[in-house]
Amino acid sequence: MTGPGTEEQPRSGDILARCEGVARTYRAGAVATVALQGVSCCVRAGDRIAATGPSGSGKSTLLHLLAGLDTPTVGTVSWPALGSRSCLRPGPLAVVFQAPSLLAPLNVEENVALPLLLAGVSPADARARASDALAALGLEDLAAKLPEELSGGQAQRVAVARALASRPRLLLADEPTGQLDHANGTLVIDALLAAAEANGAALVVTTHDERVAARLPQRWRLDDGRLVDGNMSACSA
Ligand code: ADP
Ligand code: MG
Repeated sequence: MTGPGTEEQPRSGDILARCEGVARTYRAGAVATVALQGVSCCVRAGDRIAATGPSGSGKSTLLHLLAGLDTPTVGTVSWPALGSRSCLRPGPLAVVFQAPSLLAPLNVEENVALPLLLAGVSPADARARASDALAALGLEDLAAKLPEELSGGQAQRVAVARALASRPRLLLADEPTGQLDHANGTLVIDALLAAAEANGAALVVTTHDERVAARLPQRWRLDDGRLVDGNMSACSA
């Protein structure tokens, strides 16, 4: 089989990502900005979490730390059920950003297959996994289109398919609806939920939009770099 969902599934409740006593300070010359402080949280298999908070509250910083794209100034981030930071992407963890960042000369299927090719997957397998991921999200009709032929909402759903093609156990999305109107934002959240479901993945979505957050059953609230509401006490192994 080549479709998403064929890899070993973590058991329900397994801790996929964990922050323990995390702080992140950005330094630019003499100026230090404390973006996060005292944050402990975990993402377990099966979770569907909206991380909310006003602009500048630390949502993107937290998501980048959970994704292993950044390292904390204080504390630790680990991925107990996924492996070490160096083997997260493409693989058990995938990230969707606010801008879909599709490569203009490549068609949709080629864009979805590209991270797999770069990771050494054979061209035939990469193409089959891209095709399966697009089909899982009902996007197969877009496979041969170029990015310039897509609407913003379609492009972002293709970015979700690109994430799904790596068969993630943990899917992270940073303001994925930030550039979209409400109708298209709804379709992108639908695609993220479908991708998580298709691969048995956990999902964390950052958003400042309450209507988006309401689509996910669990909530983290960030305020001025602190996690003021979330699962801080539920993280012991
Ligand atoms: P959010 O995603 O909730 O808008 P961010 O995590 O992007 O919040 O930012 C949190 C704080 O850290 C803000 O004060 C922001 O200005 C600051 N910040 C974020 N990234 C950087 C950076 N690369 N350099 C300096 N300050 C940053
Ligand atoms: Mg942000």
